[in-house]
Amino acid sequence: MAPGSAPKRIPTTAAAPAPAAQSAGASGATEVKPDSAKMQVSALRSGTVIDHLGPATSFKALKILGVGADATVLIGVNLDSSKLGKKDILKIEGRELTDAEMNKVALLSPQATFSLIRDFKVVRKFQPTLPDQVDGLIRCMNPACITQDPRVTGRFHVVTKSPLKLRCHFCERSLRENEIEFA
Ligand SMILES: [Zn+2]
Repeated sequence: MAPGSAPKRIPTTAAAPAPAAQSAGASGATEVKPDSAKMQVSALRSGTVIDHLGPATSFKALKILGVGADATVLIGVNLDSSKLGKKDILKIEGRELTDAEMNKVALLSPQATFSLIRDFKVVRKFQPTLPDQVDGLIRCMNPACITQDPRVTGRFHVVTKSPLKLRCHFCERSLRENEIEFA
C-alpha cells in the first residue's frame, strides 16, 4: 500500500508548481527577448554584409579590415553553402566598406560577395575582381627583399587567381593564398 500511495503523491506535488513556473516564465522574459534577438541575427540596419567568405576566414577578414572589439559584428562560421560546400558570413554594423577594402578581402577570399545596407535595404552589391597587380596591401615574406625597407612599396603580380598565387615584383618570391600577410 505504501508504494502505491507514494507515486500518487509525487505527481500531485509536481503538477502544482509546474504550471506556476511556466506562466511566470511566459509573462516574464520570454515575450521580449526572442524578438529582439531575432532582429539582430536576421537584419542589419546599415553596414556591410560579406557573404561567400571561404570557410573559417571570417576572423582573418575582420583583422585585415581593422574591425575592432567595439564593433557590432555578426559572424557565421562554416555554414552550409550550395556553392562552396562551407562558407563564412560577416555582418558588420555601421560600416560601409570601400572598394579598396573589399578588394583586400577578395585577396583573402576571392569568391566573397558584398552587400552595402542602408535602412535594412541593399543599396549596392559588389563582387570584387582580383587585379593583375597588387600595390601595397601585402607584405613580402622574404627577409632579404628590398620591400623590407618601409620606404619601398610592395608590389605583387597575380600569377593565378584560383587558387590564388602571387609573385613579388622585386624578389620573385611566390606566395600562396594561405601565406598572404597583409601590410
Ligand atoms: Zn619580395
